[in-house]
Amino acid sequence: MNKLLYPTDFSEIAEKCIDYIETMGEHCTEEVIILHVIDRREINMVARAMSRYSTLVPVNVEKEMLAKTEEEIAKVAQRLRVKGIAVKTRIEVGIPFTEIVKVAEEEGASAIVIGSHGLSNIREMLLGSVSEKVIRKSPLPVLLVKR
Ligand code: ATP
Ligand code: MN
Repeated sequence: MNKLLYPTDFSEIAEKCIDYIETMGEHCTEEVIILHVIDRREINMVARAMSRYSTLVPVNVEKEMLAKTEEEIAKVAQRLRVKGIAVKTRIEVGIPFTEIVKVAEEEGASAIVIGSHGLSNIREMLLGSVSEKVIRKSPLPVLLVKR
């Protein structure tokens, strides 16, 4: 468990993972890769809606989302750094589960720490769609932090 991948959507449930990462940091974990995936479908949806309804100056949706994500991921990184954990941050654009599995392999992670649910947090769902697909597709052990 020396290198962990921590994918976050910045939700409260994803934040809960930090306690467990901290505990592992006291034992075996040397580095944590924090990853946020900007959902390409979301960029397209927002861009389409904006061009259809907005009378405002058009903005570059992807660029705005990237800037906002950089701010948010820096805050998460700081929270882990003050606990003495070495961190690296990554932002990708694509389909979340695909990028999560890909980055885990690229980084040579030993495990993935993920929330059971995220921003949608639908009560009836046993798992969110991203965590479900990560569990299905990843060859790595997955530590699923329950809501
Ligand atoms: P759904 O998205 O299916 O409506 P949900 O939002 O409740 O449901 P998920 O999106 O599956 O649940 O989130 C589960 C966990 O997956 C989150 O706690 C977070 O760790 C991770 N995650 C979700 N989306 C992303 C993302 N875009 N980038 C990185 N990690 C993500
Ligand atoms: Mn989600």
